[in-house]
Amino acid sequence: MISVRQALSLIQKHTVTPVATEVHIEQALGQVLAKDILSPIAMPPFTQSAMDGYAIRLSTDPKYKVIGESKAGDNIGYEIKKGEAVRIFTGAVIPEYTDTVVIQEHVEIKGNNIFITKLPAKGANIRLKGEQLSKNDLVLTKGHKINEASIGLLAGLGVQKLKIFQTPKTGILVTGNELQVAGTPLIAGKIYESNSVMLKSALKRNGFGNTNIYNVRDDISYTNKVIKKALSENDVLLISGGISVGKYDFVREALLSNSVKEVFYKINQKPGKPLWFGARDKKRVFALPGNPAASLVCFYIYVLPELRRQKGFTNRDLKISSGKLSRAQENRSGKSLFLKAKVNNTSVEILDGQSSAMLHSFSQANALVLIPESKKIIEEGEKVEYLELGYE
Ligand code: AMP
Ligand code: MG
Repeated sequence: MISVRQALSLIQKHTVTPVATEVHIEQALGQVLAKDILSPIAMPPFTQSAMDGYAIRLSTDPKYKVIGESKAGDNIGYEIKKGEAVRIFTGAVIPEYTDTVVIQEHVEIKGNNIFITKLPAKGANIRLKGEQLSKNDLVLTKGHKINEASIGLLAGLGVQKLKIFQTPKTGILVTGNELQVAGTPLIAGKIYESNSVMLKSALKRNGFGNTNIYNVRDDISYTNKVIKKALSENDVLLISGGISVGKYDFVREALLSNSVKEVFYKINQKPGKPLWFGARDKKRVFALPGNPAASLVCFYIYVLPELRRQKGFTNRDLKISSGKLSRAQENRSGKSLFLKAKVNNTSVEILDGQSSAMLHSFSQANALVLIPESKKIIEEGEKVEYLELGYE
């Protein structure tokens, strides 16, 4: 059985290089830029007023004659002479030979003339052409995660399309004869199916929407057929259940007969020991244990980092932090443990209910504590590392 570290490095070794695609800026939020963007224009595109006031050529004489008006959007072509002013508003073109804008609060108006009551500094209240960006300046670099400010910046430069890294298409295939869809009273012997909607939500929260869902009975030929279809329709396939060693666990066999090469099977960890990972061309398959908490742990630890790599991210989204254990914890299993925990400031409380079938403790947690396989006991107050789940 391989270790957590080995499993992570095998997945990384088999990573699929991100693929660039062109999208409209409206589709770019949260995506990773696949190519540097150079500014197609200067920003601002012309020298403009930053305030409402009067554009002047500054002199020692406080009196100026107002010869016209320039509002945002106008392009009148005034040429100012000494002692003249143009009434001007924020965003309007600065007339030729103007060097300063005096704000309207600092003038007195007498007929066609203004008298400056508080002398501005030369160059005040003017945004120079290109002061933010010159034409062909580097605006955003490859690898930048597009946020709403970047979208505004690009829109202001007239950029409509940009190259981002594609989001891999994800599918979830759920196995189990015992699974019943919610909506009708539970039949004896059945359980409500919960992994598909849980994993779909985890994908969605992390920017992987539009997941395809497939359901199969514990039947080898049916499992074979649906895996074939799911592989043709997705880049990364998550499978829930059917990967243990029971008589009715057919997922491994079905994956192998669909030519998915096994990279590893089983990790020395708790929960999530039976995790299976395989590759076929550019397709990747994670067969997750059916137990809900184990499934979700494997998602955060193994699936999400690979999905993010494929999307062009170079950092992991869920941060690893450290805190002090509030109660001593034993680890007699010789396995790596992922424990649901509640972190308060720096105090880390391991929650009750760590079984791989239990989601109640998971829903109350905000962290997964990482206990190394070699660590037999962690004392109260000892430092532990944990993955921040991002739950609020
Ligand atoms: P398996 O990995 O198929 O052996 O399933 C392990 C445990 O997880 C069993 O108790 C299953 O009933 C349960 N389980 C499997 N798939 C799901 C699912 N989609 N939703 C909820 N529980 C599941
Ligand atoms: Mg099963």
